[in-house]
Amino acid sequence: MRHFRLLLFILLGSLVTIQAQQPKKYNSSQIYDAIQKLNVLGSVLYVAAHPDDENTRLIAYMANEAKARTAYLSLTRGDGGQNLIGPEIRELLGVIRTQELLAARRVDGGEQLFSRANDFGYSKHPNETLEIWNKDEVLADVVWAIRTFKPDVIINRFDHRTPGTTHGHHTTSAMLSHEAFDLSNDPTQYSSQLELTEIWQPKRLFFNTSWWFYGSREKFEKADKSNMLNFDIGVYYPTRGMSNNEVAALASSQHLCQGFGRLSQRGTQDEYIEFLKGEPLDGTNNIFAGIDTSWNRIEGGKAIGNILNTIEANFNFINPAAHLPQLLEAYKLLQNIKDEHWKNVKTKELKTIIEACTGLYLEASANTPNAAPNSEVTLKIEALNRSNAAINLVSYNLSTIENGISKNMEMAENKRLNFEENIAIPFDMSYTAPYWLNKQSTLGMYSVKEQNLIGLPETPRAVYVDFNLNIEGTPITITKPVVYRYSKPDKGELYRPFEIVPEVSASISDKVFIFENDQQKEIEITVKAGRDAVDGYVQMAYPNDWTVYPSKQKIEIANKGDVQKLIFTVIPPKGQSEGLITPMVNINDEYYTDELVEIDYEHIPYQTVLVPSESKVVRLNIEKRGENIGYIEGAGDVVPESLRQIGYNVTLIKPEQISAENLQNFDAVVVGIRAYNILDELKFKQKYLLDYVHEGGNLIIQYNTNRRLKTDNISPFHLKLSRDRVTDENATVNILDTNHPILNFPNKIGPEDFEGWVQERGLYFPNEWSEEFTPLFSMNDKGESSKEGSLLIAQYGKGNYIYSGLSFFRQFPAGVSGAYRLFINMLSAGKENPAIIKN
Ligand SMILES: [Zn+2]
Repeated sequence: MRHFRLLLFILLGSLVTIQAQQPKKYNSSQIYDAIQKLNVLGSVLYVAAHPDDENTRLIAYMANEAKARTAYLSLTRGDGGQNLIGPEIRELLGVIRTQELLAARRVDGGEQLFSRANDFGYSKHPNETLEIWNKDEVLADVVWAIRTFKPDVIINRFDHRTPGTTHGHHTTSAMLSHEAFDLSNDPTQYSSQLELTEIWQPKRLFFNTSWWFYGSREKFEKADKSNMLNFDIGVYYPTRGMSNNEVAALASSQHLCQGFGRLSQRGTQDEYIEFLKGEPLDGTNNIFAGIDTSWNRIEGGKAIGNILNTIEANFNFINPAAHLPQLLEAYKLLQNIKDEHWKNVKTKELKTIIEACTGLYLEASANTPNAAPNSEVTLKIEALNRSNAAINLVSYNLSTIENGISKNMEMAENKRLNFEENIAIPFDMSYTAPYWLNKQSTLGMYSVKEQNLIGLPETPRAVYVDFNLNIEGTPITITKPVVYRYSKPDKGELYRPFEIVPEVSASISDKVFIFENDQQKEIEITVKAGRDAVDGYVQMAYPNDWTVYPSKQKIEIANKGDVQKLIFTVIPPKGQSEGLITPMVNINDEYYTDELVEIDYEHIPYQTVLVPSESKVVRLNIEKRGENIGYIEGAGDVVPESLRQIGYNVTLIKPEQISAENLQNFDAVVVGIRAYNILDELKFKQKYLLDYVHEGGNLIIQYNTNRRLKTDNISPFHLKLSRDRVTDENATVNILDTNHPILNFPNKIGPEDFEGWVQERGLYFPNEWSEEFTPLFSMNDKGESSKEGSLLIAQYGKGNYIYSGLSFFRQFPAGVSGAYRLFINMLSAGKENPAIIKN
């Protein structure tokens, strides 16, 4: 894992890492690019369902070659996927993927939008998707995105006409976009939105097709393309020293938690979009045909365009500040424009250009990365003009206080102004948190009531400074969020967002505690101070039939950021039972029950998320045979830790350590998810694993995908992996052979063991196998044929070979007792009669 992550970072290089954390600093070429883009008043909205669905080649092309304002609307934040770089799943993974999308957009020049839809996991058909998403809310959010972003054209990633051929979320994204295209201009639809925005009619809707949708390149070659536009997305950008497709690869390589680090491509490459509806094409290859994308588009824009186009045509790369008088002239004219939408969009762009041209450096850095409400923070404020323009710092306003602080100081060329301000964080200031996680969500939807927040990639920063400047006689305010700037000897200068945290938070060492018998367990609680001098006590909330002692423990933490660890003893009931435990920290009669989760990766800005601090406790009624388990890690799962929790001795086996001698020490060997997709060594080591089985061992292989297997002989007998999956976690499980030992020894497995499963039953089940295999279950999603490949067992020599696509790796972290019981039986296979055990 660690190795994998490191490798990706090396591939990416340091440039992107720095961009993710530091404020952007523009060089002349970048200013020139920004001016070119300033002179285009056209916009494109790209629509799909997940982080990584977006075609960064086309987004980069629209943003950098067409120079249109371009956004990607991802209906979800990708919460339902797997994390290849760390332990975060569900909401926390959604937070990472949101930031990865923003990182991708920083590279390809797009903007990022979302809906409230929750990525609940795989679904096969839009009907299934829309049973779980609230269609009306998601459609409202697509309409809202169109009304606020006001795209001239919309491009769908997926085909709305072919439900069932791809992930249900994908087709749904296209269907909703197709529907919203007409609704967004209708004032009777979602009319409450119109208190905050206006109706909007995009001109055209396209589908970003490719040969893939035609089955082969040959078929696509022959397809009628009269209704399509095509773009050479390999175009070269001299100001960047990169081709569009290189930019695109760098952008999609930001999706690191999905393993998307990839090689770049160069050279001519065609990308196609198919016209779906709206104003007909005019026979040219112009996506904006019939739309004036010049400054003439808006009333009063012509004069602005005259100024800015002259700057573009005569751009001074040596001294961009030379254009300042004209830029300010354009800025003043822009402030009188009636079209509020373009005025806002272009004012923001123009301010950035003016700031860049004058080499302005404006920063407010806190002396601490975070603070609790009611505490004091010192801000170091730096203001610097690196041009010969006459600039005055009139005043600045801190968002935490009402009145501005007057300065009236001349910002002489390259003479730094430094100030210090002590600010009090207001007692009622909200904690920094992703806004969509503030309220309880459902499986299908996040709950966000404030219409203005819907669609935003992240919560706007609450602590910021407005610098009120007078630039050559023109008043301009530039806003900077407060940051935390620091350095590390081995890393250099670093930035973190400044955050508001609770005065105290508490976490439990594990998310799930499995009690394999009625023995008590000691559980560690870590209390973290968000301010100095925290003084109080901790109590535990727990289910009725459980016991936790002591009932109260005192905490006293002197310094902010320090932690105190407490041990509580948890005693399970005699019989099977499960519930939640929560630490409740009492400070001055106020209870704090949240955990502060920190997400720290180099490719995205540092994030904190507040989540309810709770862990599941499960008392299992189980018996087991065998103790020593060897585990070959695949793409990453927590199965080894889960097995340790129920008393197994788990040894991680590195691929190079697989040998006959090594394997004979284990009662069972388990292969982690997708190991045969990612471990090259298994090609050579598979024979040892199969020999181990032949000599009496017990080998359990968890799911692999059927593409790019590292070996052809994953099984000693014919076994063909397919894409069969059962995504409904509540799908009925039929037991095919109730007398089979796996279902009876040492624990009796029944239908109740398939209750309470999460996310899915399983995936990539084999769909063909030789007669040596015995299938144990059949199950299926609604409207599909039954699938029998979820758990297959074969006797091979003296041992057992078990292949299972059941998603144990999802059930274990959720504390699903039936999944544990079934897995224990798999580990105990062949041990009914001790004489059969090897040796
Ligand atoms: Zn997707």
